[in-house]
Amino acid sequence: MTEVFKGNFTQQEPIPDEGISAALDVLKSGRLHRYNLDPGDVGEVGRLEQEFAASVGAKYCLAVASGGYAMATALRAIGVQPGDKVLTNAFTLAPVPGSIASVNAVPVFVGVTENLTIDLDDLEAKVDQVSVLMLSHMRGHLCDMDRLMAICDAAGITVIEDCAHTMGAYWRDVPSGRFGKIGCYSTQTYKHMNSGEGGFFVTDEDEVMARAIILSGSYMLYGRHGTVPPDEVFERVKYTTPNVSGRMDHLRAAILRPQLASLDQQCKAWNARYKAVEEGLRNTPGLTVVDRPEEETYVGSSIQFLLLNWSTEAVNDVVARCAARGVELKWFGGAEPTGFTSRYDSWRYAPSERMPESDRILRGILDMRLPLTFSLEDCALIARIIRAEVGAVWQGQQAAE
Ligand SMILES: *Cc1c(COP(=O)(O)O)cnc(C)c1O
Repeated sequence: MTEVFKGNFTQQEPIPDEGISAALDVLKSGRLHRYNLDPGDVGEVGRLEQEFAASVGAKYCLAVASGGYAMATALRAIGVQPGDKVLTNAFTLAPVPGSIASVNAVPVFVGVTENLTIDLDDLEAKVDQVSVLMLSHMRGHLCDMDRLMAICDAAGITVIEDCAHTMGAYWRDVPSGRFGKIGCYSTQTYKHMNSGEGGFFVTDEDEVMARAIILSGSYMLYGRHGTVPPDEVFERVKYTTPNVSGRMDHLRAAILRPQLASLDQQCKAWNARYKAVEEGLRNTPGLTVVDRPEEETYVGSSIQFLLLNWSTEAVNDVVARCAARGVELKWFGGAEPTGFTSRYDSWRYAPSERMPESDRILRGILDMRLPLTFSLEDCALIARIIRAEVGAVWQGQQAAE
């Protein structure tokens, strides 16, 4: 009998009961706006900022409306000007180059390796053109952060980290988001904490944080934040920094606080699922598993594998055969993007020279979400299905040659 998977790849877990009850309290209070506080109270948003800052060991955290907003705020807060070039990954998600374009700066794309991380040789070749790198830890893959920081420090490049897929991840013992000057995170439904929409901005720098708070729409109420730079720092920036509203509200913060408390546990649950799929896929002829470096503590909320140098027809065949058995694979290499864009050639507002080696890798990347609503048995079944269908198409190809 042919096995079929019946699960839903976009079904997340419910919000924890504690979050629902905290959200109801906020709703009943009628005080949803972050600056609508009882005297002396820092509120749900302020408390969340304190707790998130502590969780990654940052001096400051600003909770905002989205991850993309956090990234654009980062670029504004460090003074990126229209026309400035900003380095970023050739393989990432649309909001990353979008944040650069939103401040009228120009994305310059850096290639991708077979480990699905930024190509550090290509980065080294491009650092003399720019002063900022928006580094995306796309799909949770951390590059050699020691080498990356050495390259950027030597070239005087400011690093901003996009940690949309690495909340809870580490390189050695340093949390992702704590290598660069600013770390940006998302709490959108498909990331590691779920408030529908939302994001965080973390930094240790007083003036960068003061600008970010004013940018986020604090008016002159910045003293009501959870983590606040000294007053004299605001005196320097408060009349020269524009308000680009993008605040978080108490309702979202109330939903997020209990999720932050159980983030480590959730990450372990993701990794158990990731390992179940990875084990099932290992040693499948024609399929390349992405090996993870020892220094990396990742969060396996999605998994990628490569069908390197396969024809378009054969990859399409694998995707269709898996879909027919209930396994939704996303192929990043298709000629036309479906659902999302993740490749530099899809962002035509930011033209780039072709990168043939990156193109070859991008053409081979298949991706699958691993929501925590899947059981370990589900994951083993999914791996069996992929293994069988990749195997069938692979054998067909070998026979035809
Ligand atoms: C989701 C995502 C973002 C942006 O997050 P939003 O909160 O949706 O704006 C940034 N980078 C990557 C890689 C993402 O997947």
